[in-house]
Amino acid sequence: VTKIGVLTSGGDSPGMNAAIRAVVRTSLYHGLEVYGVLRGYNGMVEDDIFKMESRSVANIIQRGGTILKTARSKDFYEYDGRKRAYDNLKKRGINGLVVIGGDGSFNGALRFSKEFDIPCIGLPGTIDKDIAGTDFTIGFDTAVNTAVEAIDKIRDTADAHDRLFIIEVMGRDAGYIALHSGIATGAEHILIPERKTDIESVIASLQEKEKRKKLVNLIVVAEGDEFGGAEQVARVVKEKMPNVDARVCILGHIQRGGSPSCIDRLIASRMGYHAVECLLTGKHNVMVGIQNNKMHYTPLENAVKAKQKINEEWMRIVKILAS
Ligand code: ATP
Repeated sequence: VTKIGVLTSGGDSPGMNAAIRAVVRTSLYHGLEVYGVLRGYNGMVEDDIFKMESRSVANIIQRGGTILKTARSKDFYEYDGRKRAYDNLKKRGINGLVVIGGDGSFNGALRFSKEFDIPCIGLPGTIDKDIAGTDFTIGFDTAVNTAVEAIDKIRDTADAHDRLFIIEVMGRDAGYIALHSGIATGAEHILIPERKTDIESVIASLQEKEKRKKLVNLIVVAEGDEFGGAEQVARVVKEKMPNVDARVCILGHIQRGGSPSCIDRLIASRMGYHAVECLLTGKHNVMVGIQNNKMHYTPLENAVKAKQKINEEWMRIVKILAS
């Protein structure tokens, strides 16, 4: 591999810029040329590709979002689109690709690498931490810290008014943002897609707390919770406990933005560095991850969306500490 392309694809996540920077600077260190592709696979299909230098990535490690922009690409699902993308890389001599994104983006990279002679490396960039083969994904730590900061603020007003707040955090398939932010803010209940939501027992516990005059309660709900998110939980609470002042707060997109945390900058830098090493050493078509603080390489075929095992110990801790 002598010329590397780099792109960000799917939903953005804080730390993507740090990963781009690492890919660019490591490539240049090895004397390779490196090209930025704009707006995910769209830039490959539409020939929006530019050469990057060391200064192209100056002053971005601390910035959220992605300087390469990100998008979803319809064309890339079709062979014709992928062929156009290939031709655009080929005419520049680009013979290695780093894709920073989620499992969908890895599926695209896998197909592309099977059809054409361009090896691809995936870096897990998603706030949900829902990818198999890695303990960390770029953006998760920042998102969770943003959620904690917001929930702390909500607790102040909940406390002042003796209110129950039902707070919805991101996580369509994975409850990690809810679990981590809920434990860290002392939430009474944490509802996640990985567990069946027993709404009856949530209500029973709130009623028991009401009797004890414990009126301030926080319930953190992952958007993908099977009960249907915060609004649905609130509907039942209001129905069963009309005297409780229950409010809903949906944190939404603030969780995606902002300056990446130190941990996200570190893992993005480490993964970006190893992505280039992989291309150079022939470890092709893998996703670079970290497991037990060691680099871990998962074939793109297996870098799928996965519910990581939610540790039972955590669930027990939630229960005991919130009583
Ligand atoms: P997020 O988890 O944030 O949604 P993602 O990477 O999973 O990120 P997707 O929208 O699923 O996001 O995928 C990103 C892009 O990857 C798609 O818009 C498409 O261009 C490409 N892609 C996904 N799956 C395939 C596939 N099977 N074949 C070709 N391209 C694909």
